[in-house]
Amino acid sequence: MNPGEKTIFQEYLTNQGTVVKPYCCQRQNHICAKCPYHIRTGEEARVPYAEFDRVFGFPYRSTAALRNKHLLFYELRSFSGSTVQKGHATNCTDRGYHAEPMLFGVGGYLDAVTDAYGNIGCIILCSNYSPCNEAYHCCVSKIYNFLWKYPEITLCIYFSRLYHTEDGFPTAAWNREALQSLSSLWPRVTLQRLPGGAQCYLLCNFVCGIPGFLPSIKRKLTKLCNFVINNKYLIG
Ligand SMILES: [Zn+2]
Ligand SMILES: [Zn+2]
Repeated sequence: MNPGEKTIFQEYLTNQGTVVKPYCCQRQNHICAKCPYHIRTGEEARVPYAEFDRVFGFPYRSTAALRNKHLLFYELRSFSGSTVQKGHATNCTDRGYHAEPMLFGVGGYLDAVTDAYGNIGCIILCSNYSPCNEAYHCCVSKIYNFLWKYPEITLCIYFSRLYHTEDGFPTAAWNREALQSLSSLWPRVTLQRLPGGAQCYLLCNFVCGIPGFLPSIKRKLTKLCNFVINNKYLIG
């Protein structure tokens, strides 16, 4: 390590993918089962089907019991469109952190990864909630700052439900305004609900243990889904 070089993240290869330890102050605890490894990358970091189904609740069924659970899949693509890295991030129920600041914050994981690779042209996020901009989290502001720092990167955010935008939440107007502001950056930023066809993309790329999902079928579907997302049918 060069003198003065800062180690912000520690990554460990495990049988559940590469786990990332983002903050030195986060330790294992009994309140949050995921701590301190809220970011996982690689092929082995796939989420079990049961967890995916509970959190995303396709197509859009109510999951009131999981209101506090955030699950965000991400894919980083190069300028030529090839996948550089994929993985997922979860919120921290102990410290109350949202997933987006861990990824997009100054010195966050994507900041480090983007600098390290130098060829990231597109980031695709598929989350069970839209990003908020509440004072404690400032998720949208952090995404904004990230986009400002990396003007060559395009961002696609798909979400299955809106987070705290209903009348009655004190922060609803603030969150709605932040989402409108973010979506005004189109075409550089795409912000929309997950289309029905996205389930195939998510299952093929981020989920394991899918009932009745044979490897041969999975290979065919993966090709098909990548074709669909590359041709923006998923986005359009
Ligand atoms: Zn945690
Ligand atoms: Zn947030």
